[in-house]
Amino acid sequence: MPKGGALYRKWRPQKFADFVGQLHIKQTVINAVVNDRIAHAYLFAGPRGTGKTSLARLLAKAVNCEANNPSFAPLHSGATEGGDNIKKSVPGEPCGKCANCIAFDRGNFVDLIEIDAASHTSVDDVRDLIEKVNLVPSLGRYKVYIIDEVHMLSKNAFNALLKTLEEPPAHVIFVLATTEVHKLLPTVISRCQYFDFHYLSRVEVTEQLKKVTQQEGIEITQAGIELITENAEGSLRDALSMLDQAAGFGESKIDRGELAKLLGVVDSSVIQHLTQAVIDGQVVVGIDLISDVYFKGYDLNQLAKQWMNHLRELLMVKLGNISLIDRSADDKKVMTEQVSTVSVNQLVNWLQRLVESVNTYKLSHLPQLALEMAVLKCATTPAEVTAKSAPSRPASITAKSTIVTANPPKSSTKNIAEFWPQLCDRLEVTNPATGALLKSSSAVIDNGKLVVELPSDFLKQVMSKSTNHQVVLAGLAELGVSDMAVEYRVVRESGAVAAVGNVFDIM
Ligand SMILES: [Zn+2]
Repeated sequence: MPKGGALYRKWRPQKFADFVGQLHIKQTVINAVVNDRIAHAYLFAGPRGTGKTSLARLLAKAVNCEANNPSFAPLHSGATEGGDNIKKSVPGEPCGKCANCIAFDRGNFVDLIEIDAASHTSVDDVRDLIEKVNLVPSLGRYKVYIIDEVHMLSKNAFNALLKTLEEPPAHVIFVLATTEVHKLLPTVISRCQYFDFHYLSRVEVTEQLKKVTQQEGIEITQAGIELITENAEGSLRDALSMLDQAAGFGESKIDRGELAKLLGVVDSSVIQHLTQAVIDGQVVVGIDLISDVYFKGYDLNQLAKQWMNHLRELLMVKLGNISLIDRSADDKKVMTEQVSTVSVNQLVNWLQRLVESVNTYKLSHLPQLALEMAVLKCATTPAEVTAKSAPSRPASITAKSTIVTANPPKSSTKNIAEFWPQLCDRLEVTNPATGALLKSSSAVIDNGKLVVELPSDFLKQVMSKSTNHQVVLAGLAELGVSDMAVEYRVVRESGAVAAVGNVFDIM
């Protein structure tokens, strides 16, 4: 089964000039062809969709092109116009006109043997193919074996390959391709010329998409192309596969919004707004955004993934590595503005909270919950407060720390240091939203009452709601603490906490 969709197959490069990205590798391969210094085994390692098998095929085509053969014999030219008439624009390029190039383009060049180790069902076939390497090529100068996902070869097939790699016949070239080079034996790697393929840059993917859309007559806005590029994550194959979907979408010009919906991806502006809501401490705005995305039918896992990536990139920007971010100038501007009001600690903290929430609630039957919890935790507990909380608040400590009582309990002999963490743990299972909120709050016993300290009026209102309050009372009763009144209090010692509180005060 060939990989990729219709456009990907149609736009597979026929010559080096059409190959996108991996410039240094491409040039080395071209030089090898031009100087007739071909290695007998190449290893192309790197992420999916970055051009490994496309370049392997170009190499196979170029070395077998009669125009590149220094000892060219007209014997092989067959029905074509003959070697003397073949003109090449670029040294090393396959001519596209000789018998071998034509056979290659038609997909029936017999000296190209492609094996997909991942999907090949009969491993013995693979072994047989490799063992037949001693037979001379039928048409070309070289017999080229492209073994994709080579790390998946069976043990037997691998041993046959190793044996051949030790002493390859002069007429054979192996190109081994893999996405998981760490799974290969060092003995294999050391016998190959090794190339590390990288993700394509956004510029490379965008340029290629523009070219394809123009020539295929696909009507799509610039913003639509950018959306595909953002989500292709450096894989041209993925980009073209998305374009395939987009092209079949409708008759009118495809815009970014429609495309986002079609591809199930969330527009980056949503991610930016979500982040801004957290920066501003606006829990309600953040939760509304998530709800909106959910009810429009988008995949929330995708949203979580995109948001994580955005926070990671913000961290890079904050650390002064904006040049490492592969984003448009507009996006970079927004990101620079966003990091201007947050600290490195905050960003690290938010990322941790997001990852924790996704991991904690991934099995929940409510797909929104993980993201809602993340917004709540990030927007209500600024990192600075967490970092320097203890000195200014000796009497109130979070559930994870040691609990100290402000005043000794008068009406209860129960120890808050015992029951408070238990209560949080229990509620996190039975009532995740309430449990998570309590976990990020603190509690003290004051005049015999359990006082839950919250960072904002909004959260105080949330907890004071009859349903949430009852959940807390029931949880306490289950732990044998039924004689204690519960109060909710807003704490505003530090600047950051006050700022969050103020936001809610005016809401
Ligand atoms: Zn040719």
